[in-house]
Amino acid sequence: MRRLVVRCPICHTQKNEIVDDELLRLRKTIERGIVIIKISKGRVCEHPIYLEIDRNFSIRDTYSQERLSNLPKEQYPHILELKAY
Ligand SMILES: [Zn+2]
Repeated sequence: MRRLVVRCPICHTQKNEIVDDELLRLRKTIERGIVIIKISKGRVCEHPIYLEIDRNFSIRDTYSQERLSNLPKEQYPHILELKAY
């Protein structure tokens, strides 16, 4: 079981998110490289949160919507949305 601690970059709300099953479902895409996973608003706090995940399923960085939109597109070719439980 993989537990990721998600921390909102805007309001700093922190929550343990167990996303093992969801990540495994996305494994094929993740194994191609760095991916951005969207945590929908309402799940941790009222902000959508974007996690940069590497091949080892570790969080490399966390982005707000605004910061993500300032990145060049080629830096985040895959944006995956986690479905709610
Ligand atoms: Zn927040």
